[in-house]
Amino acid sequence: MHDLLIRGADVVDGTGTPARRVDVAVAGGKIVALGDDLGDARRVIDATGSVLAPGFIDIHTHSDYAFPVNPRAESKIRQGVTTEVVGNCGYSVAPAPAERVGALREYLAASGPFYPFRETTFAGYVEEFPRTSVNVVLQVGHNTLRLVTVGMEPRAPRADEMRHMVRLLEEALAAGAIGLSSGLFTAPGAFAAPEEMLALGKALASRGAAYSSHVRNEAGGVFAAVDEAIALGESCGVHVQIAHVKVSGTENWGSADKLLARIDAARGRGVAVDCDQYPYTTATNPLRNLLPTWLQEGGIDVMLARIAAPGVRPRVADEIATRGCGAFGKLPSWDAVRIALTAAHPDYAGRTIAEIAAERGTDGLDAVCHVLTDDRGATRVILESMAEDDVRAILKTPWVLVGSDGVALAPYGPTSAGKPHPRYYGTFARVLGHYARELRLLSLEQAIWKMTGGAAAALGLADRGVVREGAWADLTIFDPATVGERGTYDDPHRYPSGIRAVIVNGDVVLDEGEHTGALPGRVLRRGPHGVG
Ligand SMILES: [Zn+2]
Repeated sequence: MHDLLIRGADVVDGTGTPARRVDVAVAGGKIVALGDDLGDARRVIDATGSVLAPGFIDIHTHSDYAFPVNPRAESKIRQGVTTEVVGNCGYSVAPAPAERVGALREYLAASGPFYPFRETTFAGYVEEFPRTSVNVVLQVGHNTLRLVTVGMEPRAPRADEMRHMVRLLEEALAAGAIGLSSGLFTAPGAFAAPEEMLALGKALASRGAAYSSHVRNEAGGVFAAVDEAIALGESCGVHVQIAHVKVSGTENWGSADKLLARIDAARGRGVAVDCDQYPYTTATNPLRNLLPTWLQEGGIDVMLARIAAPGVRPRVADEIATRGCGAFGKLPSWDAVRIALTAAHPDYAGRTIAEIAAERGTDGLDAVCHVLTDDRGATRVILESMAEDDVRAILKTPWVLVGSDGVALAPYGPTSAGKPHPRYYGTFARVLGHYARELRLLSLEQAIWKMTGGAAAALGLADRGVVREGAWADLTIFDPATVGERGTYDDPHRYPSGIRAVIVNGDVVLDEGEHTGALPGRVLRRGPHGVG
């Protein structure tokens, strides 16, 4: 007798091939049969009229901040996500040596204010990793390695510091990280020269590990920044994942096709490079990253002292006017920057910098400095920095994958504060509902491939991301007529519509839209036959 039988669904198997109506049987956590008349099962789900797909693989997330307080991964499970890749953009919560725990907590306060930072090695972190509803793929972050080795100093590492970073990287890989992520757009990663990244790339190559990058610049410098990531893959022979590919800044809008051609050419000459995207024109980031990188040299205290010192703000204002906001380029106006979360002024959540400036009778930069000073640099914002035409050009490119760049949140408990980016709740439903069904920008099968089989191939995941006999039973059942995002910028803590059931390693985690509380997720590690 099977554990579970799913009857009558239109199966979109994650390979890109057309849907077919077939029953699916699950036993021992795996898919054991596809066909008709598969026999008895302890549990039968009648999925007539629904689509059955592989569980979605969220290839780019920051849910590592939230798992200790939201192990049910609510906002991800409710989208149909069954595997999350964490530790992105150069940020990981480990390793955290005793003398750097405070610095790491402060550095990541704008991203994971609810994470219980404490001293740990990467091995200790993996050892104590919470049981979660989703499978988890771990990466170690370059910003974290640099912060715990060199601090926030704008210089190259000394030889002994470089050896230490390589050793920490190798320890993390041995403990279960599948690779290194970088976040070269912001301090302290921004202080690293390409040579430093190549040295780390060689350490990755010697262990068959991978590299992912939030590249050095996503505005006018995006072409050179993407070239840098591709060059690392090409010279070190490691797989490169370019995170949340975009063209940011009004002065660069319209150049998505040029950027995609660059990546396509690298793929064409055999470089192992993939990229992912979140389907929105807005980004979310710590507010301080809109300011010039030199302001952040030395850390938060020094930054706050600088923005309070006479003569600094006019220089910053001048840089923003001529070069734009840090690595994001020029923004339409301060109306385009909205507060997501600031502990010092909870009532600011959802309001724009322009509104706060008007209320205070000052300009936008003054409002920015006011909020940053009051919450010691921990403010998080949402910024309108991309053009819809570029977002669509990227999304309809067949080889671009889908990643939320989001944190698993819940509309209750510690992660329910503020007005976070709606992508944390809506990414996958938005692609399926808005872009595939309503706008017909891509077919359902293509959209699902980008979230499943395509992501599994990029990660080297063994036996996931596809519905076939012998694969792990990570499955999502949804109504193709109603699947869609329900969250908005004003009301982001809303689960999507149309997701009926989600199964992880054979266990039902979402049952008729309700979370069962099951925590069947596993930490997936690199082994001789891939990541599994
Ligand atoms: Zn990023």
